Amino acid sequence: MTSDPQNKPLAGRIALVTGASRGIGYATAKALGAAGAQVIAVARTVGGLEELDDEIKASGGSATLVPLDITDYDGLDRMGASLYERWGKLDILVANAGVLGVITPITHLEPKEWQTLLDVNLTANWRLLRSMDPLLRQSEDARAVFLSSSVGSKARAYWGGYAITKAGLEMMARTYALETQKTNTKVVIVNPGGTRTAMRAKAMPGEDPATLPSPDAQAQKILSIIQDPALESGAFVDLKN
Ligand code: NAP
Repeated sequence: MTSDPQNKPLAGRIALVTGASRGIGYATAKALGAAGAQVIAVARTVGGLEELDDEIKASGGSATLVPLDITDYDGLDRMGASLYERWGKLDILVANAGVLGVITPITHLEPKEWQTLLDVNLTANWRLLRSMDPLLRQSEDARAVFLSSSVGSKARAYWGGYAITKAGLEMMARTYALETQKTNTKVVIVNPGGTRTAMRAKAMPGEDPATLPSPDAQAQKILSIIQDPALESGAFVDLKN
């Protein structure tokens, strides 16, 4: 298929999205694929990835599915090596996969739950960044997007476990932004705000999902941020604004 810069502005770009099997990650991967990027879609649920693949194909795009638990850290390293062999670069990283854990007083969190939060939301993203950094450095114009939350910078009672991991993630992203200042990579932290997904429904079971923006709506905003030539590296973007 020939690329039309109007409809396929991301043609020739390689984009990796974690948590691409549902929710915001799925919608972002779909939007990136429709915009012409070659999508590398990472998550554990094969059914969700296959559905995404069908949608991307239907829009004239192309995806590579990577069924992987991001706490398989060696698996992340192997994925980095495969991407290097196949494409030699990464243009867009969307570190989106995350877990909410249990909403409970910080002192009541079970050690196992605490560990899962740290493993998935923080350590996996550091290992991912560590594996993808050499690839991002090969891009002419790279973006690294990290999905956080308002609680990453503003404490909220009972949300401590999740919030602590998002605070750590934000510090990692800001540190990386400083360390890549002289490279072609721009880093951005995105707070999607309340979005109609499974995670939000778990966090706010009494809420009417119809009152929330859809993942597709948020994905379009993320796509605009990625394509913004004036994006300042290290910025925090709140999609509610
Ligand atoms: P979601 O619907 O629960 O989807 C989470 C995604 O992460 C799924 O695709 C899931 O895939 C993946 N994931 C979780 N654990 C994983 C693991 N160990 N390995 C690989 N993939 C894993 O969540 P969402 O609402 O779309 O949230 C996306 C991001 O936005 C998260 O970082 C979240 O913290 C942030 N956020 C969301 C909201 C909101 O209102 N929705 C608000 C603020 C921030 P598998 O289960 O298939 O592996």
